[in-house]
Amino acid sequence: MSIYPVRRMRRLRAAESLRSLVRETRLNPGQLVMPLFVRPGWRVREEIPSMPGNYHMSVDRIIEEAVRLEALGVGGILLFGLPEIKDHRASHSAAKHGIVQRAIRGIKKECQRILVITDVCLCAYMEHGHCGVAVREKGDNFRIDNDESVKLLAAMAVSHAQAGADIVAPSDMMDGRVAVMRQALDQNGCKNTPIMSYSAKFASSFYGPFRDAANSAPAFGDRKTYQMDPANGDEALREIEMDIQEGADIVMVKPALPYLDVIWRAKNRFGFPMAAYCVSGEFAMATAAAKMGWADRDAVVMEMLTCIKRAGADIIITYWAKEVAERLHEESAARLQDYRNLPEEMAEGDFQQEDESEEPGDVSGQPQDK
Ligand SMILES: [Zn+2]
Repeated sequence: MSIYPVRRMRRLRAAESLRSLVRETRLNPGQLVMPLFVRPGWRVREEIPSMPGNYHMSVDRIIEEAVRLEALGVGGILLFGLPEIKDHRASHSAAKHGIVQRAIRGIKKECQRILVITDVCLCAYMEHGHCGVAVREKGDNFRIDNDESVKLLAAMAVSHAQAGADIVAPSDMMDGRVAVMRQALDQNGCKNTPIMSYSAKFASSFYGPFRDAANSAPAFGDRKTYQMDPANGDEALREIEMDIQEGADIVMVKPALPYLDVIWRAKNRFGFPMAAYCVSGEFAMATAAAKMGWADRDAVVMEMLTCIKRAGADIIITYWAKEVAERLHEESAARLQDYRNLPEEMAEGDFQQEDESEEPGDVSGQPQDK
């Protein structure tokens, strides 16, 4: 590559039109997924205190929201359920008329394009809030039983798929759940339902606000025996590789921003469809900083999501999916309007003929700083 002064990197940064021409990464509403939280009731839309702009909605309200998101061209919604009843076997997780199953059927009746993706995990359905079946060991010590949990998760995935879910997304981090889920789906008439696996889901402190949203904080212990240690990148690649071998169609890294290296390595290593979940703590940081007047919220949001995509994510799950889709459409709608306002034929005199007799002006060709 030639060097200065022949090579001037600033040439292509001199104006927005030039920057736009060579921009490598662009956000697209069709690759954004909006998490939604469905709860029992009718005409309910309650804001989640720790996540302003996000709501617990009853099935009727969720359907309305899905219709709006579809109109915006948002790629998918990721459904989380807040069930009527929790118990120690998560028995409502695979109920035919469970809260998520009702929401799926309602949305699929009204929407043709937007993908209905369902979170498959037991924590919201367990009275103890863990992602699997808890077995008492000694005294007050519990362990989360992997293989029992996997059976329940597979049944849950099948019931979502049979209700009409387009994609099921296991987020529990039990070993072997993708393989068991794939087999269960295939045996129950859902061989074409893709699995988007939360493959490298870290035991992160960035999930704080979500537990408020999903009402799923564990009553004892923590999730470190099944979610990953944030310090481990090589292990994340092994998790992702195993999920691919077990039959995952899309793999995911969660959270996103503190784990861009994992997204990057996985995309380079496997070249597989890749999702990243920009989690509630990431949402909260930008929201709180903007509230304090410490950050330009809209700019920070666009930068965060663009950088997650640049790192290698094809799909971004984000609480900003709706507003970002709106913003992207507003920009292109304004363009289209300008274009349509142009007259069919431009009047004479609209463009001045160039005077060839005049001496050329500044020919340095160097764009000026603005
Ligand atoms: Zn869970």
